Amino acid sequence: MIKFKNNSKKLEKEWQDLEHINPFLYNIICFYNTFIYNIFQGKNTIITNIYRTKEEQEKICKKAKVKFYKSVHCLWRGVDLRINLEDWQIKIMELLINNKFPYDKTRPNIKTFVRHNIGVGDHIHIQNYTT
Ligand SMILES: [Zn+2]
Repeated sequence: MIKFKNNSKKLEKEWQDLEHINPFLYNIICFYNTFIYNIFQGKNTIITNIYRTKEEQEKICKKAKVKFYKSVHCLWRGVDLRINLEDWQIKIMELLINNKFPYDKTRPNIKTFVRHNIGVGDHIHIQNYTT
């Protein structure tokens, strides 16, 4: 099941919009959700961030004490998920999604599935380039 941080109505709306704005990314999240629910004993997908305005991104960069950079979240090309899986389960999802949905075949160093901590805490970041 797909859930939203703090049962946020704003996130729920962004999720509905994402289906039309970026169906490719929407499908990657659906794939993740179906997989973890069926294979990892009913685990849910918890979305913590989808769209960001430039102002919201500026705030995050300030908090993280890094120079401002434009995030894929500002372009509807990124979704953040809460970590509610074991490390080995996350590793499986990382390998699976990065193999099934390569970010950009000409830039294999950039990944679709990333686990990182950039000022907003440890989380899973899923992004896409090709649509
Ligand atoms: Zn992100």
